[in-house]
Amino acid sequence: MEDKTIRLQLSETKKEKPNSDQLIFGRAFTDHMFVMDYSDPLGWHNASIVPYQPLMIDPSSMIFHYGQSVFEGLKAFRTEDGDVQLFRPEKNLERLNRSSDRLCIPPIDEEFGLKAIKQLVAMDKDWVPDADGTSLYIRPFIISTEPYLGVAPSRNYKFIVILSPVGAYYKEGINPVKIAVENKYVRAVKGGTGEAKTGGNYAASLKAQEDVAKGGFAQVLWLDGVEQKYIEEVGSMNVFFKINGEVVTPKLNGSILAGITRDSVIELLKHWNIPVSERRISMDELYQAHQEGLLEEAFGSGTAAVISPIAQLSWEGKDMVINGGKTGEVSQKVYDTITGIQYGKLEDPFNWIE
Ligand code: PMP
Repeated sequence: MEDKTIRLQLSETKKEKPNSDQLIFGRAFTDHMFVMDYSDPLGWHNASIVPYQPLMIDPSSMIFHYGQSVFEGLKAFRTEDGDVQLFRPEKNLERLNRSSDRLCIPPIDEEFGLKAIKQLVAMDKDWVPDADGTSLYIRPFIISTEPYLGVAPSRNYKFIVILSPVGAYYKEGINPVKIAVENKYVRAVKGGTGEAKTGGNYAASLKAQEDVAKGGFAQVLWLDGVEQKYIEEVGSMNVFFKINGEVVTPKLNGSILAGITRDSVIELLKHWNIPVSERRISMDELYQAHQEGLLEEAFGSGTAAVISPIAQLSWEGKDMVINGGKTGEVSQKVYDTITGIQYGKLEDPFNWIE
């Protein structure tokens, strides 16, 4: 990128902010957004912060037809002394570029992207809620905007960042959920786009989620897309199991999204000298461990909930209740520590806060 200045156009009116205790995920947006364009041969240019507004996009734009897009999700937190801080934001920019590479989207300058996010958040900092467990969700994304119906990488893009104040994921302590092991649909396949944060993966996951919701399940446990034997993810979270004292999470294999919370959980467990391994784990092995009384805890990890304990897994007509359906000790400790660091209540020995 040649020109790294960010033009500012302030919003003339200020929107009314929702009450801190009535925040619904992804419904309200702040006063401003960041926008930057890509075209050949200019590269990324026209970086600006402008009032939050609808986009004018040609109906033939490639994003509407072939779904060439990527996105990220991270949060800004308000600390007790009123500061606003981000959790490992550089990891989201790295992952955005990895996703872009898979989707043939040109990379952005990560340092500049982070600067843009920080400037936008600083501008709308009054929107960062301060009630317990609330935060400002940050959604950077890139869409392909070339008006052309050929199946090819677009030659034009927009990188946009929008902000949304979000409520506490758990209002009354973390809440273990029931999960159905998915035997019909798959989320991703070997050689596919599972490792990229791209819209199509989420579109493809809706049907399974809708089907199991009817049976009272919160989410599905995704198995591998080749043999439907090995565990991959849970809903849109990574997944961990504590088996006989050791914490196990599926090894990144190209079809699993490399979660930033996942990485943080692994680092924390190592720091505490709790045995942790990244390896392939099958449903057969998990069921066996449960039968032997060795499956001690199970939880999902992701930006939205941080940790989401699994109370029960249902697989081929068998119900596996885990830890009596209650939150396990390690799950709780990881949750308390990560959220403690995010809200500035605990020290940050890992340099995760920016
Ligand atoms: N897997 C999928 C499919 C996801 O969408 C997410 C959310 N980004 C995660 C895992 C967890 O990633 P992170 O910890 O970076 O939020």
